[in-house]
Amino acid sequence: RVIVGKKVEEGHVNWVTAYNMLTGIRFTVSRTNAKMDRELTDADFDARHKFSFDITGNELTPSAKYDFKFKDYSPWVFRHLRAIFGLDPADYLVSLTSKYILSELGSPGKSGSFFYFSRDYKYIIKTIHHAEHKLMRRILREYYHHVLENPNTLISQFYGLHRVKIPYGRKIHFVVMNNLFPPHRDIHQTFDLKGSTVGRDFKEEDLAANPRATLKDLNWLRRDLHLEFEAHIRQIFLDQLKRDVALLQRLHIMDYSLLVGMHDLEKGNEENLRETTLKVFQPGGEQETDDRGTMLIRTPSRLENAKKARELRLTLKKEKPIAMGMTSAKMPSELSSGDERRDRVFYSFDGGIRASHEDGRGGETIYYLGLIDCLTHYGIIKRIEHFWKGLSAPRTQISPIPPQAYGDRFLNFVTGVTMTQEEAERRKTEESGR
Ligand code: ATP
Ligand code: CA
Ligand code: CA
Repeated sequence: RVIVGKKVEEGHVNWVTAYNMLTGIRFTVSRTNAKMDRELTDADFDARHKFSFDITGNELTPSAKYDFKFKDYSPWVFRHLRAIFGLDPADYLVSLTSKYILSELGSPGKSGSFFYFSRDYKYIIKTIHHAEHKLMRRILREYYHHVLENPNTLISQFYGLHRVKIPYGRKIHFVVMNNLFPPHRDIHQTFDLKGSTVGRDFKEEDLAANPRATLKDLNWLRRDLHLEFEAHIRQIFLDQLKRDVALLQRLHIMDYSLLVGMHDLEKGNEENLRETTLKVFQPGGEQETDDRGTMLIRTPSRLENAKKARELRLTLKKEKPIAMGMTSAKMPSELSSGDERRDRVFYSFDGGIRASHEDGRGGETIYYLGLIDCLTHYGIIKRIEHFWKGLSAPRTQISPIPPQAYGDRFLNFVTGVTMTQEEAERRKTEESGR
């Protein structure tokens, strides 16, 4: 079963939702960024603002195609977070709003979340459960400080937290976050690693039908793979992971994964699909096969996007900042338009990090790494799941275990598969000598 990402255009079942999400983001992000920057206050973390959109428009909101309510959470905190992550406000708006085209990912996985990509593939909108939403609100302070103190954090970058609701519809919570994978490079292999072995296997026999499936822990071990870094990079990586995991443990979070995308420089990109092909995944749960299909969608080139952002900035400068103005009050860190993530170790090589050997040679692989799905609280549901799963499998190996143990096991696993080229080779000769 190959799941193919769908363009969300007028007529698509989720078109209205997608349109409302983007309209709300555009309005609220512009609104916040139009103001002079200032220091965050305690109240910014708890802030939430509700807006009603309708066809005619009113003093507060411009007219929209549909009637809906939009809630914006902690806008100032996210404005600062976007700046810390080096996002250019105009770029952000162009990516998320140009022509209202997103691509939606297949049918939702076990969690029921939907994933939408921005047209240029840079951002992901993920719908989240109310429990995840509440958790995000509760941890926002700690998350913010962690990000501030850890420029190399591997935890998902969150850019916004919002809610939409159409009349008589249910409330839909969602986050905007970074897509770890680059638009312009094929990801040849993807792994979602938890350090758990129970149920963490993508059936190898299904791989032929679906060569780009997201693989799991057992597939990784079967292939005897490792992350290859030179000693000092490995140290930075493991130290950072330790700090990230310590935060998640303190916040009683579990069930997260290390997402590993690998681009093989020798294979490069498949000819003539370059730039126009996006590899998509199906968000999947434990038992769900997370297939990976190919979606043929023209993505605007970087150049096109840069041009649009520039135009937007120019018009915004000419207009009074009230309309949709957002560049009038930039933070110093918002001023440079380049991709600042480049300064971050794990995103420094074309959005990823290149495998490196002790002798300074670059490896043939670019890794795209990040901690994803970080909003599951070890609450009552997980405890029940733990109990049931524990009846049929060893309790230390199943995926829902308490956060402290979960984090320790996770770190153990990743530490065990992160090595220098020397170590990897030594291990190989040892094994073949056996
Ligand atoms: P479940 O709770 O059942 O595991 P979920 O709906 O919470 O699923 P995630 O675990 O967050 O979904 O993500 C599912 C898949 O989507 C991942 O395995 C990965 O392939 C892809 N994915 C998620 N977040 C990102 C991201 N930031 N960048 C790139 N790919 C991502
Ligand atoms: Ca997951
Ligand atoms: Ca999840």
